[in-house]
Amino acid sequence: MYDLHTHTILSDGELLPTELVRRAAVLGYDTLAITDHADASNLASLVEAVSRVRDSAQCYGVNLLVGVELTHVPPSLIPVLAHDAKRRGADIVVVHGETVTEPVVPGTNRAACTCADVDVLAHPGFITVDDARAAAERGILLEVTSRAGHNRTNGHVVRVAREVRCSLTVDSDTHAPSDLMSKEARWAVALGAGLTEAESREILFRDVNQLLLK
Ligand SMILES: [Zn+2]
Ligand SMILES: [Zn+2]
Repeated sequence: MYDLHTHTILSDGELLPTELVRRAAVLGYDTLAITDHADASNLASLVEAVSRVRDSAQCYGVNLLVGVELTHVPPSLIPVLAHDAKRRGADIVVVHGETVTEPVVPGTNRAACTCADVDVLAHPGFITVDDARAAAERGILLEVTSRAGHNRTNGHVVRVAREVRCSLTVDSDTHAPSDLMSKEARWAVALGAGLTEAESREILFRDVNQLLLK
């Protein structure tokens, strides 16, 4: 099991990175990405801070992916900050997509889907077929999310991703301890988004580390 989108007290989450990792380990997660909200003000310190808990994660048997979620960053700056994050040692760059519940600036999905340094477009809202195709060409994952509000467009995201054969990830966008999904909850989110049982199994239990080595 994996989760590629979570938050800690380093942004607006409730848990220290180490407690989040521990709770994920107990639920059976193999891989956890910590992807706190980032812009130009805090990107460097986030990558550095999360990197410091790699050893603790290893002690709990969790493969920690050091990441950031570029959040409300102007589209023209997304490639610059995504590249900077990778240069500083981030394993994964998530972009806070055009969810229907926040005034994310139009063009954010496009900028993310055309940037090779981006790995996941989170809660992409009413993403267009063209943007999803651009993501598929670059191996960027589109997110199906359990998070209330952001999850309203999961069905649309699945339909568009299927049309252009773009890979999906199922994430929690955890902010509080109760947001982490059990195995059963992950199944429910995948099936509830309209994925078949076979598609869900392939998405929920694949080796994401291979996918990120694009
Ligand atoms: Zn948040
Ligand atoms: Zn998030």
